Amino acid sequence: MTFVTVHCPHCDSEQIVKRGKTHRGTQRYLCQNTACIIGSFLLDYRNRGCLPEVKQQIIDMSLNASGVRDTARSLHISPTTVLRELKKKEGMLESVNTALLRTLDPEKVTVDIAQAGEAEMDEMWSFVGHKGNPRWLWHAIDHHTGKVLAYVFGRRKDEVFLQLKTLLEPFGLTRYYTDHWGAYTRHLDPNVHSPGKRNTQKIERKHLTLRTRIKRLVRKTICFSKTTQMHDIVIGLFVNRYAFGRAV
Ligand SMILES: [Zn+2]
Repeated sequence: MTFVTVHCPHCDSEQIVKRGKTHRGTQRYLCQNTACIIGSFLLDYRNRGCLPEVKQQIIDMSLNASGVRDTARSLHISPTTVLRELKKKEGMLESVNTALLRTLDPEKVTVDIAQAGEAEMDEMWSFVGHKGNPRWLWHAIDHHTGKVLAYVFGRRKDEVFLQLKTLLEPFGLTRYYTDHWGAYTRHLDPNVHSPGKRNTQKIERKHLTLRTRIKRLVRKTICFSKTTQMHDIVIGLFVNRYAFGRAV
């Protein structure tokens, strides 16, 4: 007779008890570690979409050039499962780089005025459903470090730019580099605004990364977002994870 120690897949604890069976007859276990967030698990998942590592892979693949159906095919799960896991992330997303905001020392900013508080802003075109329904990503990056400061989604309209401008207020920006789009010239003080192509190279490069890594943003393909919600979640996740450095 052999014994195999059962480990919790969530916290790796060995304090496990049996806790009934599923309707298919698979043994269910309960983790007794009080610090464990999930607790209940199966050793033999028939439904692969419930496996913690598969859930992680769903997100990883979505942010590395796989569409919903590519992810579903590779992981042997249904597209519905992929969409469900992505939707769970919606509440965790932030539109402002709060980590960067916390490290901003107000005294340093005033001393090193030439380096601090210069931003590049740009808007990137995309669409949801059909090309007649554009969804622009507006975002701002630090002109010197290239770090993303904040982002918003919406039409290419003044009110969307104003939302971004509000999000940027805590950064205490002293100069804005943008293209010649009217929304910028209408709402930015000419003394702090430098329109033109020359100083927006870093942010244009960021658009290329997004278009390479997120399948729904690749141009000249048949891939696109079917809903605004999924569009904003996938791009938002990418920005939160890779630009803001958050564990999402
Ligand atoms: Zn556990």
